[in-house]
Amino acid sequence: MKLLVTGGAGYVGSVCAARLVESGHEVVVLDDLSTGHADAVPDGVRLVEAGIDDAIGDVLAEGFDGVLHFAAKSLVGESMVDPAKYWHGNVVTSLRLLDAMREHGTPRLVFSSTAATYGEPDQVPIAETAPTRPTNTYGATKLAIDHAITSYAAAHGLAAVSLRYFNVAGAYRRFGERHGVETHLIPIVLQVASGRRERVQVYGDDWPTEDGTCVRDYIHVVDLADAHLRALEHAAAGEHRIYNLGNGLGFSVKQVIDACREVTGHPIPADVAPRRAGDPAVLVASSEKARTELGWKPERVDLAGIVRDAWDFTRSQQGA
Ligand code: UDP
Repeated sequence: MKLLVTGGAGYVGSVCAARLVESGHEVVVLDDLSTGHADAVPDGVRLVEAGIDDAIGDVLAEGFDGVLHFAAKSLVGESMVDPAKYWHGNVVTSLRLLDAMREHGTPRLVFSSTAATYGEPDQVPIAETAPTRPTNTYGATKLAIDHAITSYAAAHGLAAVSLRYFNVAGAYRRFGERHGVETHLIPIVLQVASGRRERVQVYGDDWPTEDGTCVRDYIHVVDLADAHLRALEHAAAGEHRIYNLGNGLGFSVKQVIDACREVTGHPIPADVAPRRAGDPAVLVASSEKARTELGWKPERVDLAGIVRDAWDFTRSQQGA
């Protein structure tokens, strides 16, 4: 297939673009490089350095079999203090994309949604049937886009799949996580191990969990990318399917820090800090639907293995 990857110079987008190329697809990346990196675009992939608002019509006019839509603003904290950046940057931009796809007859869409659409869960593991009550603007914008996709699919025959990621981690070859502003646990802990940060703060150790720290579902970015390939194959005209993607295993903040100590051999000093606003105690996915309907199964579920891949990437960046 000929595929357009928006946000293909970012973390998840670049890994997906690389896996798509390896599977024999022709890939074009559209990225304004506001947070992505030109050198993260895989070899053999054309980079159109532009925003969706400016370029999507001209690009899709070339003719594509599908779009994988990763381009987004994704900092939860920022979304609360600058909501306009998220409603415009995520929702308005995605509507432009949907309209351009309709105009140019692009048949398939795989959308990068998030567990943040669910908010505080009533029960875990979280299934796709759980109520969607986002607790931050970022999650609200992703949910709004999901709703728009549902209506466009029903009315205009789009074949669409939304994938709701839990905590994406790990790396693939030279493609990994390097955000200007880092808020995610594993990269922050690895910054300590690589000497770029003194200590890590544990946001609360009095949560109602086994060791008192928050539990999250860490999914390897390669498993995540493979789900996108399957989603493309299974997308059906006129339908909008939604799948949660996690490995189904929860790991606590303490377990993550311990795994990082084991992998890096660094003591990684940690301090207990106050809870972070908006953090639920436990977020673990039920990915049963993706397993049953997409035939997808996460293969890289071992926490130390996930951390090792992220660590190899961190070190390769330091050497770069
Ligand atoms: N966390 C932490 N210290 C940090 C960053 C994160 O204790 O410096 C915790 C955070 O409270 C959450 C978990 O690690 O319970 C994962 O946070 P992250 O921001 O990576 O992902 P989120 O689950 O918020 O999407």
